[in-house]
Amino acid sequence: MIIAFIGLGNMGGGMAVNLAKHHDVRAFDLSADAVAKAVDAGCAKAETVEAAVSGADAIVTMLPAGAHVRAVYADVFDHADKGTLMIDCSTVDVDSARTVIGKATERGFAMIDAPVSGGVKGATEGTLTFMCGGTAEAFAGAKPLLEIMGKNVFHAGDAGNGQVAKICNNMLLGIHMIGTCEAFNLANKLGLDAQTFFDISSTASGQNWSMTSYCPAPGPVESAPSNRNYQPGFAAAMMLKDLRLAKEAASTARAATPLGAQAEALYALMEAAGEGGLDFSGVMKLIDGSL
Ligand code: NAD
Repeated sequence: MIIAFIGLGNMGGGMAVNLAKHHDVRAFDLSADAVAKAVDAGCAKAETVEAAVSGADAIVTMLPAGAHVRAVYADVFDHADKGTLMIDCSTVDVDSARTVIGKATERGFAMIDAPVSGGVKGATEGTLTFMCGGTAEAFAGAKPLLEIMGKNVFHAGDAGNGQVAKICNNMLLGIHMIGTCEAFNLANKLGLDAQTFFDISSTASGQNWSMTSYCPAPGPVESAPSNRNYQPGFAAAMMLKDLRLAKEAASTARAATPLGAQAEALYALMEAAGEGGLDFSGVMKLIDGSL
């Protein structure tokens, strides 16, 4: 199978290389360095979008945001062969995902949105989780390729529903991370050490993933970024991007998301303080006053 892969950054670079172990992958990116790395790891270089997609059986994109996805697919639609399967793995606003998939459908292409979780490590190791939106047929066509790049592949429903699952999950993650920081900070101020509070709360009703797998207080979870000065991991700036997408979607859907809005405000403060590059659990430093 010939696959065009567009967007070879932190995530796409590793994903393209995993696909190249099983298929012929043509790699395109605006960054020559990104293309060179992919070529070193077994992909073929494409000089343009047209060269990448002409004659390809499938197209995978991993781009920064909705504007990039809309622009790249305008070009893709003009040059792809009929019957080409299109998979956008970028995290973008729900409207962009639905608009672009709508245009693909009008032109007779099968396309899904398939945003991921699992970070750069998951992209490199081929253990990502994919949340997909689109028709059952398009999803079935994409699944074998997604299974090369990931471990869990979910069909979340119609076009855009992959993005919906992604932003709702990450909004919840941002909220329980901040709540966990507040609890550990208060416990500390009241004289209860982090390990003792962890031992109790992780087996009581306050238990949550941010606590047990990614504890924002240094100590209890050895692999957590809090034990290496909050180096990411998953950067606070990326969490802020996802919270902004959730806010935008909530506004369109007229859904009340008061805690999501509060989480966005706190991550925006973190970024304004110049710390958007810290792991998102570094919001602990904002809460405990050490930022
Ligand atoms: P990145 O900035 O490292 O990579 C994006 C790549 O797209 C860059 O190499 C850039 O040159 C390329 N690009 C931009 N416009 C282009 C165009 N018009 N044509 C061709 N290439 C173009 O970003 P990333 O960290 O790889 O993230 C990609 C997407 O994955 C984002 O939507 C992000 O939200 C999502 N995501 C990232 C992570 C993570 O941990 N990094 C985790 C989950 C999801």
